[in-house]
Amino acid sequence: MALDVTILPVLKDNYNFVIRAKEDGTVAVVDPSGAEPINAALRERGWRLTHILNTHHHADHTGGNLELKSTWGATVVGPRADAARIPGIDVQVGDGDVWMLGGEAAHVMDVPGHTRGHIAYWFSESNALFCGDTLFSLGCGRLFEGTPAQMWRSLSMLRGLPDHTKVYCAHEYTQSNARFALSLEPESAGLKRQMAWIEEMRAAGRPTIPSALGKEKDLNPFLRADEAPMARAVGLAGADPVAVFAEIRRRKDAF
Ligand code: ZN
Ligand code: FE
Repeated sequence: MALDVTILPVLKDNYNFVIRAKEDGTVAVVDPSGAEPINAALRERGWRLTHILNTHHHADHTGGNLELKSTWGATVVGPRADAARIPGIDVQVGDGDVWMLGGEAAHVMDVPGHTRGHIAYWFSESNALFCGDTLFSLGCGRLFEGTPAQMWRSLSMLRGLPDHTKVYCAHEYTQSNARFALSLEPESAGLKRQMAWIEEMRAAGRPTIPSALGKEKDLNPFLRADEAPMARAVGLAGADPVAVFAEIRRRKDAF
């Protein structure tokens, strides 16, 4: 792949991603929570920050925008639909736009639900998806500003990407998500295997990110609201996928 991705664990459980187009050395950070960890990572590698990519307005994803912009002269790229809430925004993007990092095309997708103006960046050549707080490994973001119908639609769009897509989500919530998924399907051999791997990774202090989208399609309950076994697991056999999705989300909120 022509894109280098560096995973930086910050705050309690956030991931910030420093991405570099090998072709021309352009460097972006996705959803900087603050400036210092990014500055340290850049200096260590001798890289210059050229861009900041935001998925949504929450402070744990934009807190570093203004300081990084003034330190590096970086250009801030963020959702057009939420431009007023993105600190320092320079370039507004939305569904269907193709934004270039060096020679690498990022396809922008509108994925509302967690917030009204949430977007995702899909680098198709490098098979990398930066989806913020929309899709998590074995989970999805809380519905702070959107409806279950919106979030189900957003997740369905992401589910349409190729199985080998690497999902770079913005939080390490995988272990608690796996516990919840197992509460719905305690007999799932796939989930049990995944849980064993997750425990191993976390015990070694390693991230469970990126996750392969194909694995998420198989195991993530929130991507499976239109499958009969999942509807049955929440007592809604035959119900509309949006109703099933809403029930899974409701149960997770109370888990
Ligand atoms: Zn958020
Ligand atoms: Fe967040």
